[in-house]
This record gives sequence, structure tokens and C-alpha cells, in this order.
Amino acid sequence: MALMTGEQFIESIRKMNMQIYMFGEKVENPVDNPILRPSLNSVRATYDLAQMPEYEDLMTVKSSITGEKINRFCHIHQSTEDLIKKVKMQRLLGQKTASCFQRCVGMDAFNAEFSTTYEIDKAHGTKYHENFVNYMRFVQENDMTVDGAMTDPKGDRALSPSKQADPDLYLRVVERRPDGVVVRGAKAHQTGICNSQEVIVMPTIALSPEDKDYAISFAVPVDAEGILMIIGRQSCDTRKLEGSQLDVGNSQYGGVEALVVFNDVFVPNDRIFLNGETEFAGMLVERFAGYHRQSYGGCKVGVGDVLIGAAALAADYNGAQKASHVKDKLIEMTHLNETLYSSGIACSAEGSKTESGNYIIDLLLANVCKQNVTRFPYEIARLAEDIAGGLMVTAPSEKDLKDPVVGPYVEKYLKGVNAVSVENRLRILRLIENLTLGTAAVGYRTESMHGAGSPQAQRIMIARQGNINGKKELAKAIAQITE
Ligand code: SF4
Ligand code: FE
Repeated sequence: MALMTGEQFIESIRKMNMQIYMFGEKVENPVDNPILRPSLNSVRATYDLAQMPEYEDLMTVKSSITGEKINRFCHIHQSTEDLIKKVKMQRLLGQKTASCFQRCVGMDAFNAEFSTTYEIDKAHGTKYHENFVNYMRFVQENDMTVDGAMTDPKGDRALSPSKQADPDLYLRVVERRPDGVVVRGAKAHQTGICNSQEVIVMPTIALSPEDKDYAISFAVPVDAEGILMIIGRQSCDTRKLEGSQLDVGNSQYGGVEALVVFNDVFVPNDRIFLNGETEFAGMLVERFAGYHRQSYGGCKVGVGDVLIGAAALAADYNGAQKASHVKDKLIEMTHLNETLYSSGIACSAEGSKTESGNYIIDLLLANVCKQNVTRFPYEIARLAEDIAGGLMVTAPSEKDLKDPVVGPYVEKYLKGVNAVSVENRLRILRLIENLTLGTAAVGYRTESMHGAGSPQAQRIMIARQGNINGKKELAKAIAQITE
């Protein structure tokens, strides 16, 4: 089914037999778990919006593989226009969910694998591209959500994978069989893995020949034998168990990350996209990271739109909306947010065709985009907290608001402008709290820092792509220096 409904997606996840652990217990029914459900709803939004005529142009596209109309999250980008629409789609989803909607990692892995497998085959006469295109057909025909798994635990950062005290600290091949390979290791911070049907695994760094067993890329179902997920805690996560929508801030949507263990998982030959060609690990990493750094110029901007709106409402509800410093702070937040969007659009518009035929972003601009994302959301969050005021972190609970004894005092003394209910004032403050300090802060703040690579990873790429020597030549020409 080329386009699934949100409900069909939820039911497809319900049928999976995933091994999920949280708070030291196995989660038998992740779909209806109150802590996990909001994150599933966020992925569901990627299906629901694709069914809506007003978003058809952004959310759907004609497949280059099947010729069918598919969800853009499953698309192999065919033009710079596709790259731009990808960023616009992500901004839209950020606006609608105010959280990480998780499905982008798969989309970014698809496009990195598509071009890299083509180039490996050209160099080695392997069949990885054919494997991958067949896999993409399966993904597109079934409108799947696929996790893109890159980050290994990495152990001692000063040592290469094969030199670690524990060789499993980077995921590796532990057995080679005629029909496939057996892998062992883990992937950390896996966004949306428990809301995916499949996972594409990639190496996490450029590798040298001695690390041959670590040069492995493949796809397997997330409920394959030997895969186990340990859900990461988020700040304020157990508020979702208290039954108050108000106190959660964003009770409908959320993100999720997990540590995923691959305990001797079998991978059949036709699901392998890299196996021992160490010199191509770096290309795969660089391209996946590049696409995902572009992604942040969309998703974080959409969430930023919600945060700016929430800050403006908090000012309205306080009667502070006309204060010039408040207006100026909202201008600054908008300026920063649109600057992120500008680099997301720029790296897309400056994209180019790869040898395989799909389109890749401009890597320098994509890294600049993500480097900005490691900074600007922090400043946007700081300004939102400034406008919100201290009540954002000192407000009593919904239970107090509704309590017959203390409720009337909460109503009386937490009143802002007379026309706005205290409940609505608290709702907007809880949303700002959720985005800056609560469960969504994972996606908006710390993920802005470390997701798609920590700041230093972008600086290495900026150094590599920045062409300082070319700039020296420009300066010499102007200064009329001849050597
Ligand atoms: Fe998508 Fe952004 Fe989440 Fe990455 S962080 S999966 S780009 S929403
Ligand atoms: Fe991310």
C-alpha cells in the first residue's frame, strides 16, 4: 500500500514483536503506553498529513522507483526542488507536533545509501545498489517508517573500533556465513526506533582497513531476533502518568530515543549494503550526516515557530505585549529562527546530482546550517523563558488549580489580564516549559546540540569544505601578489 493512513500505521506497529525495556521492565504494549504514545503520535502525523489535500504537494511525491504516489519520507530526491520541499515538509511537521517526528532519519539514510552503494559497486563490482533499490521498493510499497542507526557507543574516543577494550563498542560482523552475516554491537540515541518497522544500520566513522568487520551496513526489521531497545529517560517523562494534560504541556506529541542492542542479529545477503569496503564508510557517514544536518534547518524551525508563538501568547496573557523589549525579543527570536531556515533552504537549493542520479545537499552549507542549530535554539529558548517569566517553573499543578480549598487562590492570584483564564495562562507556560526544560527539550535543545553530530563534527566538515586555499588566491589577486 503506497500510502498508509495514520490508523493503519499504528496498527502495523502494534503487530510488531519488539523487545522494549523502560524503567527496568519489559514494555508489553508500547503502542498504548502513556509515556511512549505521544512519540508514536508524532510519527503518525507524517501519515495523517499525507492524506490531506492541502499538504499533498509537500507530503507526497511520485516515486522514481515504483512510479506510484508515495510519502515524501520514503523518497529518493530527484531535484533541488525535492530537497527544498523536504525542508518545508519538516518545518510543517515541526509546527504540527512541536516535537521530533522521527521519520527523517530513515529518509536521510535512504538517500545516503542510494548514492554510496552505487559508488561502491562501481569500484568493487558488488551488488549493493541493486540490494538497496530492491529494499527501497519494499519500503515505498509499504509506506514504512525506517530508523537510520549510525551512532555507536564509541567507548574510548582515543581508540579506533578494533582497538577498544571491548570490541563490541562499535557494531561489527562477528560471523560470516554463505547466506549472510551475524552482527553484534549497539546503536545509541536511536530516534524513533520503537515507532519504526525497520532499521538501517550504518558505520559511525570513517574506517581504516584494520577495521574491516566494522564496515557493515544493512537493514533488518526492528523486531528481528536479537534486537533489544532500552528507552531513554526524558526530563519530566513521568508527568505523563499523572493524568493531567495541562501539566504535560504537550500531551499529544513527543519524541523518543533508545539504546538499541544488536545481540548476534542475522542479516541476509540481500539486505547488506556495505560489507568490508572500509574506504566507503566515510562517504556514507558524511552523506547521511549532511542530509540530517539539512533536516534540522526544517524540523527545529517548525518547533521554533511554536515556541515563538507560545512566548508571544505568554506576553499577551500578561498584558506585556506592547512593551518594546518584548516586541524586540520576539523579533530577535524570529530573526534567529528564519536564519536557521535560510541555511536549510540554501543547502537544498545549492544541491547537486550524484553519480547515482539522486540529489545531495551542498555539504558546506548543510554543516553551516547544523552549526547554527547548535546555537540559535538555545538563544530562542532563553528569550522565551525571559518573556514567560518565573511562573513557568513555579506554577502549581492542575490538581491545585482544580482543588476546592486552594484552587480559588490559584485562580485569584495567578490571574494575568482579566479576559484570559488562569488555566489558559498555565497551558501556555507549561508548553514553554515542555519545549525548554521538559520532554520536548530533548528534541529542541540538546538534540539541537548533539543530534546529527555534535558541533565539532560540523567544524571538521566546514574546515574540509571551506576552501581556504581558494580564498587565499582571491586575496592575492586583489592585493596583486605574484609568487
Ligand atoms: Fe526529524 Fe528533526 Fe527528529 Fe531528526 S531531529 S528525526 S530531522 S524531527
Ligand atoms: Fe535527530
